Amino acid sequence: MKSITDLEVGGRVVLLRADLNVPLGGTSTTTITDDRRIRASMPTLTALTERGGRVLICAHLGRPKGDDYAARAAGGPSLRPVADRLGELLGRPVPLAGDVAGPQAARLAGSLGDGDAGLLENVRFEPAETSKDDGQRAEVAGRLAALAELYVGDGFGALHRKHASVYDVPALLPHAAGRLVDAELAVLRRLTENPDRPYVVVLGGAKPSDKLAVIASLLNKADRLIIGGGMSYTFLAAQGNEVGRSLLEADQIGNVRNVLAEAGRRGVEIVLPVDLVGATGFAADAEHAVYPADAFPADRESLDMGPRTRELFAARLADAKTVFWNGPVGVFEFPAFAAGTRAVARAISEVAGLTVVGGGDSAAAVRQLGFPDSAFAHISTGGGASLEYLEGRTLPGLAALEAGR
Ligand code: ADP
Ligand code: MG
Repeated sequence: MKSITDLEVGGRVVLLRADLNVPLGGTSTTTITDDRRIRASMPTLTALTERGGRVLICAHLGRPKGDDYAARAAGGPSLRPVADRLGELLGRPVPLAGDVAGPQAARLAGSLGDGDAGLLENVRFEPAETSKDDGQRAEVAGRLAALAELYVGDGFGALHRKHASVYDVPALLPHAAGRLVDAELAVLRRLTENPDRPYVVVLGGAKPSDKLAVIASLLNKADRLIIGGGMSYTFLAAQGNEVGRSLLEADQIGNVRNVLAEAGRRGVEIVLPVDLVGATGFAADAEHAVYPADAFPADRESLDMGPRTRELFAARLADAKTVFWNGPVGVFEFPAFAAGTRAVARAISEVAGLTVVGGGDSAAAVRQLGFPDSAFAHISTGGGASLEYLEGRTLPGLAALEAGR
């Protein structure tokens, strides 16, 4: 795979596919609440502009709704706040095109001087960007490729998507991987090739069906799996425990039993909660108490791990040399139910070794709970992409960057 130093970018229009999909919220829908992904895109952007490239940035934001371009563009979200933030970080304005790959995009591309950067509108305004139909994607990919002479893929968080701007455009232009993609892959390689041991994986989050595939493949790699949060109740239920009204994916119980049996055969330790915080409902102020995991009341819903579980998880992390963590272990968005996630974050922050946090909500949690980014060796910008890589799956966007030209 080529890197950006292999491309002659001076004086040429470079289409830079970045991941600028930041959370918007706060008091308005145009306030960026976490600009990590924008900052993570800056090394590649500045490397290209400093070498005289004319950088045309392509990115998606949120999930525009509507059947056609006009409806999506009218409903937003526009990349306007992202263009403004990019300009602040770059130290000069980054103009935003009024469309994605139409006349205004072409005008923007033509107006860029050496070392300039401009941004195309939200690529998901184009319905074909995410189409499963190869012909539909090829049409929009052709229009994007026509804007530029070179392509740089740096949107790590989107590499697992078979989307036009990620998968189809690199086949049409000489291309290279950007620095963020290089850096994220370097960490993932360290997790998969010969990790320092013990290698401990902490998995939480809402849905086990999302993460069972990665668990199955991690049984070949990790020494210990700590399972908490919304996915742990299906494991507890698979062992015959009552989980009350907690999150449960009953149709996954069979798969979870297979995972437990396979872990036993391979000698991989599975650490499950021993006590749970049970609430009367899903609310920030719900009344709650601690219950043993094998005596959970049928009318309660668990929103967090109990104190003995927090100690157990921390103890099973203490000797780790490599840690991968994906998924909060409680509903950390409610302060009353953030203790489990805080305990996991603290224990991981005390590990001297390669500690990797993957997943948008996990990254948001460590920040919300007051941990500096420097408390971890690496906070990934891509949860889904990291998980699919660790599963051993081929990431379409990565395959496209690795292929010829
Ligand atoms: P990530 O984005 O880091 O990959 P996920 O999207 O898989 O993580 O899961 C994050 C969500 O899981 C959070 O919104 C959190 O509230 C929820 N969650 C964690 N633990 C629980 C729990 N015990 N019960 C219900 N939801 C939970
Ligand atoms: Mg998430």
